[in-house]
Amino acid sequence: GAGKGTQSGRIRGFYDIATISSGDVLRRNIAEQTAAGLKAKEAVARGELVSDAIIVELIRNELTTVSANWMLDGFPRNLVQAQALDHMLAETDQPLNSVINLAVPEDVILQRIVERYVHVPSGRVYNLTYNPPKVPGRDDVTGEPLEHRPDDNPESFKRRLDQYHELTEPLLEYYGKRGILSSFAGATSDIIFPQIKAFLDERFE
Ligand code: AMP
Repeated sequence: GAGKGTQSGRIRGFYDIATISSGDVLRRNIAEQTAAGLKAKEAVARGELVSDAIIVELIRNELTTVSANWMLDGFPRNLVQAQALDHMLAETDQPLNSVINLAVPEDVILQRIVERYVHVPSGRVYNLTYNPPKVPGRDDVTGEPLEHRPDDNPESFKRRLDQYHELTEPLLEYYGKRGILSSFAGATSDIIFPQIKAFLDERFE
């Protein structure tokens, strides 16, 4: 809800880089009713983290499909996943060179997710106020129907936030100590994106 999908979409508009979004990968697996999707479905709808074994295998698989430049969106979400990622990347000798933290006020996120719709096959995200689809309820590119995420409701949001504080927030220290963490703050994606772009332009000149 902090705008990971929006920011990664904008980053792709400026740089030659692929995205692997753990949330999108899960939603695709759920829609296609794969074995992993069936196991993950309930946890995602409740706003709980999917088991590490499932998500780590899905991401490992996705990483085999990308080549030069890539970013992960929504993974890792806890220390076990971060360590699993370190091991995966050590095997191919490509350590992480940058971690981006989006710092967005919680009340802003809650307001935003209630108005959010997604196109599951592509992961494209719309917001009824900031970024409405051209045709209501339809994806701009394919014309296919948009969905309201089952976890975008106040109850699941509260659980996602609790899990974030308990499990994900410790990653700020994990990557901060390694000197690869950058945080960008703001109430809208329009305020945050120029900061990220300036950082990336300088960091990856
Ligand atoms: P997101 O689209 O990033 O907000 O993720 C939506 C939901 O998918 C989360 O609330 C979790 O249920 C699940 N999920 C996404 N990424 C992960 C992950 N790295 N580990 C466990 N569950 C995840």
